[in-house]
Amino acid sequence: MALYDQYPVEVFNSLGKKKEKFEPLNPPRVGLYVCGPTVYNEAHLGNLRSFLTFDIVSRYLEHLGYNVRYVRNITDVGHLVNDADEGEDKIEKRARLEQIEPMEIVQKYTNGFHAVNKVFNLKEPSIEPTATGHIVEQIEMVQKIIANGYGYEVNGSVYFDVQKFQEKYDYGKLSGRKVEDLLEQTRDNLTGGSEKRFFADFAIWKGASENTLMKWNSPWGMGVPGWHLECSVMSTKYLGEQFDIHGGGMDLKFPHHECEIAQNIGAGGKDPVRYWMHGNMLTVNGTKMSKSLGNAFLPMELIAGDHELLDQGFSPMTIRFFLLQAQYRSTIDFSNDALKAAEKGYKRLTNACRLISKMEAPEGGSVNSELDSEINKLCKQLYLEMSDDFNTPKTIAVLFDLGNKINSFANDQIPLNSISKDTFINFKATFTLFIAEVLGLEDEVEGGSDKFEDVMEMLIRNASRSTSQ
Ligand SMILES: [Zn+2]
Repeated sequence: MALYDQYPVEVFNSLGKKKEKFEPLNPPRVGLYVCGPTVYNEAHLGNLRSFLTFDIVSRYLEHLGYNVRYVRNITDVGHLVNDADEGEDKIEKRARLEQIEPMEIVQKYTNGFHAVNKVFNLKEPSIEPTATGHIVEQIEMVQKIIANGYGYEVNGSVYFDVQKFQEKYDYGKLSGRKVEDLLEQTRDNLTGGSEKRFFADFAIWKGASENTLMKWNSPWGMGVPGWHLECSVMSTKYLGEQFDIHGGGMDLKFPHHECEIAQNIGAGGKDPVRYWMHGNMLTVNGTKMSKSLGNAFLPMELIAGDHELLDQGFSPMTIRFFLLQAQYRSTIDFSNDALKAAEKGYKRLTNACRLISKMEAPEGGSVNSELDSEINKLCKQLYLEMSDDFNTPKTIAVLFDLGNKINSFANDQIPLNSISKDTFINFKATFTLFIAEVLGLEDEVEGGSDKFEDVMEMLIRNASRSTSQ
């Protein structure tokens, strides 16, 4: 019996807003798509939290025996400032500012993103496709959408026809927004005379001006794909017209994910995603962490302790542990004290891990059946907590309980042979696997420090290059 049958996973589906039994379309295969970064600046800690959520999802599903194809894209064109349909491309804007090629911006911040992933021990996705690498496929999807009557061209741009879509489908079903309510919010974006027939329509292809640096030839003239389009295209290409899990930060629910659904249905007629998962925000003193509010930490600043809100620096695994202390759907508030507590907690766990790794299975002795079954029950509990919508804080609480047992064995408060050999073997394997493999917490004392130094060096190099330009 596979572990995933033994411990069936329940996922909170944003579509329908309730926990549902996770049943992949083609087990043991699981298709997971996560919206990756727009590589125009360095990822801050709030971004990291979102990617960590899906790192945990893919790690745990793999651990249960699923074969996960994890696709996380790189947005390297098409994401306009203010996330709207008008304005400059974020990457082009940065390229003009730093006076280098847009693709140099893309390379630089993609490298930086990968370096941060490495420091925090985020696993690489199976496929990391880029928007610029899929222009042909994006043009094809626009053509399908037009052919099906859900898109129209105006002056070299193509818009998705939300009104037409609404006749048959429900635009807003994921975010719970009603099209009528969007009018107020959208009005601000309609300055300068819109080409749209309807205020809620959105660009799937945007005609380029002469000054646009990145643009491609298309049936509608030179232009760039709309921001939402790439995810529809790349998820379909690598995971199929329907796939299991689509993840992203809560702020992507609308308009980005709502538009993805509309595009996929508009092009292929199928609702693309079975389980939508959205991670909550990281807050600082109760306010969302964001670059524009000036309260965002770069991972490097946090590690170095180089920020006015910080008393000291914290190690990457302390930060990882801190972020895992909240369930992904809850907000987590950043503070020095919370990080100091996380530092202690992380050390307690890794210490217990080191201790049990050195212990040998007991031979003979009088087994205390109560303790024996308690330990087996706690080991099972780890799976039950993780299978309950990836509840990392409860999992960590159980690990602490098990850690206390390890300490009692280590300092001879309880003789090790008061549990059976089988129980010990199961205990040792489960405890160490949950820490290292499922939660991805590395031992920073034993190894890993070389890797860390290399990456830090690179991040510092990147940062000094930014400021010198
Ligand atoms: Zn996306």
